[in-house]
Amino acid sequence: MPLNKNNLPIPIYLWHREVLIFKIVIDNTNKTDRTNKESSSSELKNSSRRVLFPKVVLFDMDGVLYNSMPNHAVAWVKSMSEFGIHFTAKDAYATEGARGIDTIRQYVKNQLGKDISLDEAQRMYNVKTRYFHEMLEAPIFPGVIPLMRKIKSTGIQIGVVTGSGQRPLIKRLLDDFGEFLDKDHIVTAYDVKRGKPYPDSYLMGLEKAGVLSPAEGIVVENAPLGVRAGVAAQIFTIAVNSGPLPDDDLVKEGANLIFNNIMELLTAWDGIVKYIEP
Ligand code: CA
Repeated sequence: MPLNKNNLPIPIYLWHREVLIFKIVIDNTNKTDRTNKESSSSELKNSSRRVLFPKVVLFDMDGVLYNSMPNHAVAWVKSMSEFGIHFTAKDAYATEGARGIDTIRQYVKNQLGKDISLDEAQRMYNVKTRYFHEMLEAPIFPGVIPLMRKIKSTGIQIGVVTGSGQRPLIKRLLDDFGEFLDKDHIVTAYDVKRGKPYPDSYLMGLEKAGVLSPAEGIVVENAPLGVRAGVAAQIFTIAVNSGPLPDDDLVKEGANLIFNNIMELLTAWDGIVKYIEP
């Protein structure tokens, strides 16, 4: 545990912040270098000050495993306009991670001034889901499979925690990642009453993996509300900023580390995590 200038232990959450701030400083001074080896090795040296021994890595789905957010944004805008709701692509990114039905109820209340039932919100969400599925299937991000393989091979469990409630979702996750994941390690919108940014879904992800302590988990997230949920669950939270929002939106929520994409995270992984040999 590092000590501050008065030789007192630095609380863990501040310690994380320090790591993060260090990386952001690198980024600001050397923006063009952000993806090259030099900057990632400096970042690695620093982040390795906190060595993690995780038992489970909990991945968010949209924007982390799949490059699906552009399609989601289109489906949101198109479906909500049918209900007289002004919803922009930017709104889709800003509300990403929350349960769709919660987002819909909030927008209906704000813009139409009425409270709608969960069932009504679900019917509206079904329209959004239909548009989403009419589009081409979103691809898996490069690096996801090798990262999962690396994690699994060292005896660490893999879970997926999503605010999404599309019905065929579990099937697709198992088709794509069945080698690393089973259905008992998936948390969806239907598993929790309070979606992200509440910590509930990530805590349930730990529970499903039989992991009792948040200190034994790692969250991988791309959205501000998702990072807030991981941090609220007191789990070490890695942000992968795969969308158009500025890094600062993720920093403000308390992300412990930030990467541009999963490939960068894959490269840095061994420096962040120490394995307990299976
Ligand atoms: Ca996401």
